Amino acid sequence: MKLTVIGTGYVGLVAGACFAETGNDVVCVDKDEAKIRLLRKGKMPIFEPGLEEVVRRNVADKRLTFTTQLPKAVRSASVIMIAVGTPQGEDGSADLQHVLGVAREIAKAMNGYKVIVDKSTVPVGTASRVREIIRRETTYPFSVVSNPEFLKQGGAVADFFKPDRVVIGAEDEKAAEVMRNLYSPFTRTGAPIMVMDCASAELSKYAANALLATKISFMNEIANICELFGADVDQVRHAVGSDHRIGPSFLFPGTGYGGSCFPKDVKAIIKFTADKGYDFRIVKAVDAVNHLQKSVLASKMEKHLGSLKGKMIAVWGLSFKPRTDDMREAPAVVLIERLLAAGARVQAFDPEAMPVAKQLFGNRIVLAPTSYKALEGADAMALVTEWNEFREPDFAKMRKAMKTPLIFDGRNIYTREAMRTHGFQYFSIGR
Ligand code: NAD
Repeated sequence: MKLTVIGTGYVGLVAGACFAETGNDVVCVDKDEAKIRLLRKGKMPIFEPGLEEVVRRNVADKRLTFTTQLPKAVRSASVIMIAVGTPQGEDGSADLQHVLGVAREIAKAMNGYKVIVDKSTVPVGTASRVREIIRRETTYPFSVVSNPEFLKQGGAVADFFKPDRVVIGAEDEKAAEVMRNLYSPFTRTGAPIMVMDCASAELSKYAANALLATKISFMNEIANICELFGADVDQVRHAVGSDHRIGPSFLFPGTGYGGSCFPKDVKAIIKFTADKGYDFRIVKAVDAVNHLQKSVLASKMEKHLGSLKGKMIAVWGLSFKPRTDDMREAPAVVLIERLLAAGARVQAFDPEAMPVAKQLFGNRIVLAPTSYKALEGADAMALVTEWNEFREPDFAKMRKAMKTPLIFDGRNIYTREAMRTHGFQYFSIGR
């Protein structure tokens, strides 16, 4: 199949590369010339495990190309995927300017029947809006499909190759069949391809993210309650998660969810349901709890250290979660801003997000070349992202580097026994 993917970010690049891997001819389009230049040189604009290898192989085999020329790319393909960003607008709504703008550009470039697939996360009703826009501009036949993406950053390639399910909103059988064929190589192990109406497909994505965010905020509140009563959230989590109706995943307390999806998708579903007169109370609470939770480490530090003025704080982990360099809405950003506002100095380290952090903070914080260097002279360390390399560090080396052996662990990656044995004063979440 000839495929064009518009928007070469986490979703578009991964989808484009993976569809090329299964034998399709894929053109990836982006308006960001620097990004396309980089990709043409074989360099990845983002860090995503396994992606570079798939991209390189398919570029070498000439199944995957990159361009900024949208009209030409649209004319060359029968399936066009929209994978541009839908960032949070000022009022919390999903900003659809990129999606609708791209729909207009596609319409103008039409030269025959095309299946136009919306892969971006978009409020219910967007497929209808895209259909209207295209219908106004062209007499060529087309189908609009809603195909929300469920991959997670840090495991995006693996998720794309082995999805739990593929959701397809389609209004006609011809387009549904095209999509089934496209995804059949990825669902050989039995993952279902679920064909439904576009509104249900669009809502499925928001419902899934809102429910996952609910699990996180719920457990963060349970962790806060554990601290009030002297209970241990790890024990509670195990007990709760072993009920098969609940399951063990997504029950880890921490410093709140971040990233480019949960925060904006939670706000968007609150907004587009409110626009229909619906007060989505549970998800509003999820959002409010998350906002508070992002300050939990800073509050613990202030409680223990008193004034943070002049204190040197080491921060381990900057990306919003491990195995990505994405710092959008990362809890580390909230923490660092609060530390700086309180007059503290910050030395930080992250295995992948240092270039992004440099852009974000400039010289306002020190970006240390190694995790141990970040600890030098520190009055305390805050662990914000649970990268694997932080799990079994050389504790003696850590103690030696720090001025005070004091750790605030926002991800509960150490046991309290180990911390005691190694001579650290240790604060974590809900224990
Ligand atoms: P991103 O910001 O990483 O990438 C979007 C890309 O689109 C950018 O490279 C941008 O330059 C490009 N773009 C914007 N307007 C364009 C235009 N008019 N023409 C060509 N290119 C254009 O975004 P992302 O994280 O890949 O997310 C894309 C969509 O997928 C969003 O709706 C997001 O909510 C959804 N989604 C993201 C994830 C994730 O983990 N990141 C997972 C599932 C779904």
